Amino acid sequence: MSFQTLGLMPSLVDAARRCGMEQPTDIQRASMAAVMAGQDVWANAPTGSGKTAAYVLPLVQRLSNENIKAGTPRQAPRVTQVLVVVPTRELAEQVGQLVQALAPTGPQGLKLVVAFGGASINPQMMRLRGGAELVVATPGRLLDLVANNALSLAQLTTLVLDEADRLLDAGFADEVDRILRLLPKSRQTLMFSATAPAALNARTLALLREPLRVDLQAPTAAVENAAPHAIQQRAVLVDEKRRLQLLRHLIEKGQWPRALVFVATRYAAVHVADKLCRNGIDARSLHGDLTQGARNTVLSDFKSSQLQVLVTTDVAARGIDIPLLPVVVNFDLPRSASDYTHRIGRTGRAGQSGLAVSFISADTSGAEAHFRLIEKRQGQRVAREHIEGFEPTHIAVPMDAAGGVKGARKSKKDKLREAKTPL
Ligand code: AMP
Repeated sequence: MSFQTLGLMPSLVDAARRCGMEQPTDIQRASMAAVMAGQDVWANAPTGSGKTAAYVLPLVQRLSNENIKAGTPRQAPRVTQVLVVVPTRELAEQVGQLVQALAPTGPQGLKLVVAFGGASINPQMMRLRGGAELVVATPGRLLDLVANNALSLAQLTTLVLDEADRLLDAGFADEVDRILRLLPKSRQTLMFSATAPAALNARTLALLREPLRVDLQAPTAAVENAAPHAIQQRAVLVDEKRRLQLLRHLIEKGQWPRALVFVATRYAAVHVADKLCRNGIDARSLHGDLTQGARNTVLSDFKSSQLQVLVTTDVAARGIDIPLLPVVVNFDLPRSASDYTHRIGRTGRAGQSGLAVSFISADTSGAEAHFRLIEKRQGQRVAREHIEGFEPTHIAVPMDAAGGVKGARKSKKDKLREAKTPL
């Protein structure tokens, strides 16, 4: 099935092609017609599977058609019809960039405003003067703009919650509830995510009316957080204090052209990046203490391969599209199985393969048990490995067969696999 047969107009088919989208992906095939028709959609699909374009393409089409009907030049203020809510600033920029790459320009073109916190509100308010058909925003800044009368959502026709499970969890629930109260009851609601914790099902369903349910995620219904199969997962047991040395060793020995390294705190992001730099590796950090300008620069340098190693907190875990990223490292394990899925989903995108390496601090009690839980949630086991020269001196939790996890001693199969794919 092509974009044409899905009902996409020729100018958008061309625009999609210019962005490297020749044929629709599975999630696009499954959901675009419903989005175009105004139906609610609740979609779960693996990280990197083309979810953004699955809603951007049909919504841009609908808005463009309405603009053409309205005629030119446009005199009346533009009405905000589509609102895309995202959890992070980087994701807001990324969605905005895709809209800009696809949407027609000129007098009948769409007006898009991207708004997020951490940047001055004034330019965003100025941009909203005269209205905008499409707004992409993080929750807090969106509420600020409404409070400042810079934006009205009273005539909204479509709400998109991108990374819906994150937006509906406790951290954002209050702000998202306030946003929902500003919207017309009768509207289209679209929810897209790569993970779908069962606990959110009731809340999600309450927001939707006869939704099209698309679930391309789970190979079995029991698995909530499965990672795409294109990602090879490895778990390395190492003493906590030796992780930095091991990371350097892997980057150098594996000749990784680029690697995204996740740590637990902002401090650790700065510290690990500093240490790598001092050892001649081109590394920088990305975290919430940086100014928005610095965040943008470091991320765009990394995306364009001008930076080899980006050490980051979970600010970069969700949605961020880094083309052809070969490796993700969990220097610190993520808090939850869904965070794990999102983190490692920065690699192996758009049909590419990828490698995800997790360090398990062998001498820290609880680390092994925590990783087992992640494995259980994603319904996949990952063999534990030692790297020569970095064998742990002490194992806090002895691993045994009864635990259902492969032992630290490598099997013949593991050795063969390692020989084929050097870290
Ligand atoms: P997303 O899951 O939306 O972050 O998209 C992941 C990557 O897939 C991005 O680099 C997109 O540009 C790319 N992509 C999306 N749709 C297609 C398509 N139909 N064909 C090829 N690449 C695509």
